[in-house]
Amino acid sequence: MIRTGTCIVCGTKRLERTGGGVAPFIAHRCHIDAATTPVERVWCSRCDLLFFDQRLAEAEVRRLYTGYRDEAYVLERDRFEPGYRERHPQYVDVQHEVQQNRIIDLKADVAAMGRPLGRVLDYGGGDGWLTREAFPGGDVLVYDLGDPAPPRGVFDLVVCAHVLEHVAFPLPFMNEMKMFMAPQGLLYLEVPGPGRRPPGASVFDYMGPVMHEHVSFFSGRAVLRLLHRCGLQPVWSINSWQVTRFFARRADYPVRLMLNEWFRRDRLPLPIRGPRGIDSGAIPVKNQEVAGYFRYGRKARRGTP
Ligand SMILES: [Zn+2]
Repeated sequence: MIRTGTCIVCGTKRLERTGGGVAPFIAHRCHIDAATTPVERVWCSRCDLLFFDQRLAEAEVRRLYTGYRDEAYVLERDRFEPGYRERHPQYVDVQHEVQQNRIIDLKADVAAMGRPLGRVLDYGGGDGWLTREAFPGGDVLVYDLGDPAPPRGVFDLVVCAHVLEHVAFPLPFMNEMKMFMAPQGLLYLEVPGPGRRPPGASVFDYMGPVMHEHVSFFSGRAVLRLLHRCGLQPVWSINSWQVTRFFARRADYPVRLMLNEWFRRDRLPLPIRGPRGIDSGAIPVKNQEVAGYFRYGRKARRGTP
């Protein structure tokens, strides 16, 4: 484990801390001595980002995710978390309602961008079920741990769905991923939302005290700050209690294409934003557009160090 004394997005040392620990299954699988590894949850108020201050080293990440959800993994995890074997099929069944809804959402979001699909890279998507189901017959390449590196700078769409919350060091991860995007390419980023929380819930409640697969909780603001630090510009987002979804493009996006989009911007889906990922669908459309589409970049830049 690698202890980070600073925010993993903005680098500040001004962090709030509270107690934490490591799940026994993770400690076992990654060969971590939980007794001698103090783990805390830390919150960066600048980024609105919550994460565990001990991050998995590369060898530990490989131990955790090599053979992820295969038969041996399921049996091993079930020994530490009885009942996992019974729950497991619903996580891997593409026909399950949760997976079907993700496929439908991805298809609809990409279609709403009004661009031809082009070459797609599924970055960290396991066997690539999501992109293969969403774009059957599409030119899709799936890239995950241990796969040969994809060609750089050629993908029109990079899909990174429910991966970032598992990643130990998001900045180098995002910088690496960006290299695969074509100059005019889009990134589709999806992270879990905050879940249903009572008003006034502590920020630390957004992630359980025990470190498991999810090692960070990204609010919409945290994603924005991360994108900006990596030279990516958000073009659209939806934040809900279930999920936070962003489209972003490279900051060096060709001006000609940017102007095209500017004049066709009514074709882009309107963003829905709200504090802490609460849908703000009740906001009148005009304000929503102003708040979400135009002030977005300015607001985020002002707060980015
Ligand atoms: Zn920060």
